[in-house]
Amino acid sequence: MSSGSGKKPLHFWILMSLVVGAIVGVIANVIAASNPAFKETLGTINDKIMGPVGSIFLAMIFMIVVPLLLSAIVLGVGEIGEVRKFGRIGGRTLIMTVVFSGIAVALAMIAVNLVNPGRGISQEKRDTLVAQYKDDADKKYAAAEAPEPPDPPVLGIVPKNPILEASRALSGGILPFMFFAIIFGLAMTKVDSEVVAPLRQFFEAVFEVSQKVIDMAMTLAPIGVFALIFKTGSSLGFDIFILLLKYAVLVLVVLAIHMFGVYSLLIKFIAKRNPMDFFRQCRNVMITAFATSSSNATLPVALRDAEKEVGLPKDISSFILTVGATANQNGTALFEGITIIFLCQLFGVELGMADQLKVLGLAIVAGIGTAGVPGGAWPVIGAIVKGFKVPGEAIGVVLGVDRLLDMSRTVLNVVGDMAIACCVSEWEGRGVAIPEEVQG
Ligand code: ASP
Repeated sequence: MSSGSGKKPLHFWILMSLVVGAIVGVIANVIAASNPAFKETLGTINDKIMGPVGSIFLAMIFMIVVPLLLSAIVLGVGEIGEVRKFGRIGGRTLIMTVVFSGIAVALAMIAVNLVNPGRGISQEKRDTLVAQYKDDADKKYAAAEAPEPPDPPVLGIVPKNPILEASRALSGGILPFMFFAIIFGLAMTKVDSEVVAPLRQFFEAVFEVSQKVIDMAMTLAPIGVFALIFKTGSSLGFDIFILLLKYAVLVLVVLAIHMFGVYSLLIKFIAKRNPMDFFRQCRNVMITAFATSSSNATLPVALRDAEKEVGLPKDISSFILTVGATANQNGTALFEGITIIFLCQLFGVELGMADQLKVLGLAIVAGIGTAGVPGGAWPVIGAIVKGFKVPGEAIGVVLGVDRLLDMSRTVLNVVGDMAIACCVSEWEGRGVAIPEEVQG
């Protein structure tokens, strides 16, 4: 995706500001350690400039949480509801979607709990981190975090008042709010389609506009990322970057395992195809997803190549790829699982078995609620971590390194849809071979 900032693409500027912000921040941290006067100035710079600049960028992302999640989930559930129209194909797609996403998130949870990338930080640094973000969060969410929330949701999940949950979506209301969206979406599929058409159109428009807002926020990313990374580096020093590196490598490794391990097995044993051929046939799709960081932007290429390269029946592939662009995001679900646990570890929040299962479920549903645009995962992650008492601003710590991860997880999102299309086609007895002339 290119931006208005000169001829270079936006991700170039984001990566530049990440590197420069980190280097300058760590240098400032080193100088401050031996120079009290500078330390004070640095504190002021962080409080008065870097903090607010970073917060504006993050607020642009947070402000869209409620409309984005509501519209994405209502439409996603609606599309899955369409499944009934497609009868058996739809049912099989649904099973595959749950299997693919479930394996992705389970893999993520196992890996992040084995490697524990967020734990290797001294208690002193953790306290600094917590204090720094707690201050910001306290100021910002003081009003939303009333000590005794009125009308708490039943079992913490079923809301009595969805408007109330929407207003505290960034302070723990996200799960009940998602529940409301799912029920609303399901109910819409049960009402006469003519009656419900205007409402559907309305949500489609809200979804489109929400994605544009994320796009707009992302154009601020080079500045926002610089401010966030500088603030983190200058107050925590070099150690934090070692943790971030560990986290980023973990995400990439688990994405690779899911892509080349899990997809290969599913392609070989369910779709009964050669996995190497499959990946070769998906090459254009992978390149487009990597370059654009957007499942939506890759959809046209995916639709074309599913037919021309992979040799899938058009009716099956167009249904699955279109539904999948919104409702099946394996790479994102996997990434969300790792990131939520990483942030909890970093901020010293211990998660028991029940909480881990909650993250697992949330990450699977979040795959549906994530828009297929660059950075689409962040509003959802911000809202979820707040529910675990990690300040939403904490995502600023990891957002700086996100671009490469975003490009990579988008590849899985789209290839996952192609793989499901292959499996369902085979299951339907229509896993046709590729015509000789289009091979290669
Ligand atoms: N960029 C991803 C996609 O378009 C969404 C995300 O994970 O941020 O599929």
